[in-house]
Amino acid sequence: MGQDDPMMAKPVGVHWFRHGLRLHDNPALTDLLATCSTVYLMFIFDGESGGTRLIGYNRFKFLLESLEDLDGQLATHGGRLVTARGDPVDVLNMFRVDYGMTHLSFEQDCEPVWLPRDDRVRAWCQQQGVTIIERISHTLWDPAEVIDANGGEPPLTFAMFHQVAMSIGLPPPPVQAAPLDSRQLARVDTDRPHGHPVELFPRVPAVADLKPLSPPAGEHQKRYVGGETHALYLLGERIAYEEAALSRGIIMPNQYCPDLLGPPRSLSAYLRHGCLSVRRMYHMLQKVFRAIMDVNGHSLSICLQLIWREFFYTMSVNNPYYDQMEPNPICLNIRWRSDARQLKQWTLGQTGYPFIDAAMRQLVQEGWIHHVARNAASCFLTRGDLWISWVDGLQVFYEHLLDADWSVSAGNWMWVSSSAFEKFLDTSDIISPVAYGRMFEPTGEYIRRYVPELRRMPTEYVFSPWEAPLEVQREAGCVVGEDYPCRIVDHQVASRHNCKKMKRIAQQLDSCPPHCMPSGHAEVKLFLGVPGASLEDVLAGR
Ligand code: FAD
Ligand code: MG
Repeated sequence: MGQDDPMMAKPVGVHWFRHGLRLHDNPALTDLLATCSTVYLMFIFDGESGGTRLIGYNRFKFLLESLEDLDGQLATHGGRLVTARGDPVDVLNMFRVDYGMTHLSFEQDCEPVWLPRDDRVRAWCQQQGVTIIERISHTLWDPAEVIDANGGEPPLTFAMFHQVAMSIGLPPPPVQAAPLDSRQLARVDTDRPHGHPVELFPRVPAVADLKPLSPPAGEHQKRYVGGETHALYLLGERIAYEEAALSRGIIMPNQYCPDLLGPPRSLSAYLRHGCLSVRRMYHMLQKVFRAIMDVNGHSLSICLQLIWREFFYTMSVNNPYYDQMEPNPICLNIRWRSDARQLKQWTLGQTGYPFIDAAMRQLVQEGWIHHVARNAASCFLTRGDLWISWVDGLQVFYEHLLDADWSVSAGNWMWVSSSAFEKFLDTSDIISPVAYGRMFEPTGEYIRRYVPELRRMPTEYVFSPWEAPLEVQREAGCVVGEDYPCRIVDHQVASRHNCKKMKRIAQQLDSCPPHCMPSGHAEVKLFLGVPGASLEDVLAGR
């Protein structure tokens, strides 16, 4: 046996990319390369993986760019990325029958929506004697370990989560990438027999090959190009930006001095697709912060934001209903309105509130908006103004965001709409669609960029054009009700009314099961990016 048995002598591995679209810090791939003499790398279009069920043109394009980037990197080492369409089990069966697969590796997808897929694949592998190499590298900590450390339940506040995670220890460092060797990387024959359940593409397909989607209308376009190469470049830029801010004494510039007009600096879409390792980002930032500040830094850097991401992932792990209201045990059942017309006006940026409209138009055209804009738009749709269900808003975000992440987005929507954080239901912290935007971007240039109707409106009125005298509106070429929509609701009236409703709900809460909630006002301030918020206050429960 052994040397003489060709199967024993030559283990054949397949690495299945789902998230984790990178070669760096990819422990499942590294271990596969160390185990197998022949390795295939592939992505499967199964209509679900990589978040392809509810997906708009921009994110699909971003995903395909990320795959092209992998394909290009592999090609320089004599390999290719296999792109297949079909059911994962059929694709894996093809690899077993036609190519002798003995090992399958993939990065853990911790969200419960992926569990049925992965359980099916695990069962099939066991049946076929295929060895699975599954590793955790999409999150900083193993969510199951955090839940264990918290006595079997996910921590219910961000402050608790932070404490429990830190009690486990700092996140593991990234692993070294295994060198790619042309003798090891293998290619497949993409010609398949007619009627075979698996389709293999000769090269990474285009959006049109996969879904009938077209680019969104409007003068702005997606600004982030998918792929590991761009991710690593942007990480370098982002670190330099954080470092420069820090040396001027500014901590977390993105939170405390949001730049709604600046160049693309976000890494969220790269983290979501795994083009960038969250562990690499975390540890590189830690190093920079330690070097500049004489503190052991994690509480003060954007690493804190990465912990929000962990928080929302971990809360969702045992909860397949996390993106819904009624069956979701941590979500309050609120009697939201359902109003298709207003939902559409909101989606298309036609609410008559320029800051909200700018945010939604940027979202649809570019696929990315700043946290401040997400807060304003989501609060407006839900508890702030329209009283429409957060679940409806979530679907719109899922479709359009490049970084649309099943649990991160749902967690944020529950948070903003006060659906899972009842302690503050009676809060008066409703976001004003006028004052909030003005606080973060007082020049109005953000509105002028995305709402061209208001380009000539004086700054004084650009956040609230209905207040401009008619002659000023005429002079600016934008008469409200003719060139730009009237407000769909009066914020003062709607928000007062909604606040009362929330108070009534809060009064009835005694009998509710334990829900997630902010640990105190400091946590609310931190989330909303209000200047002066600090982690120290959050941890002290202020
Ligand atoms: P930075 O400030 O640079 O933060 C670094 C990273 O930390 C981000 O890239 C992201 O991965 C993580 N992060 C930052 N803020 C949060 C947060 N509040 N919750 C969880 N993780 C965070 N973020 C997503 O990645 N995917 C989503 O689908 C998503 N949906 C959202 C929906 C709503 C209603 C709201 C209010 C926020 C949502 N966010 C989502 C969170 C946040 O707005 C974005 O992560 C952030 O704006 C990305 O910009 P950045 O990369 O410059 O963030
Ligand atoms: Mg519920």
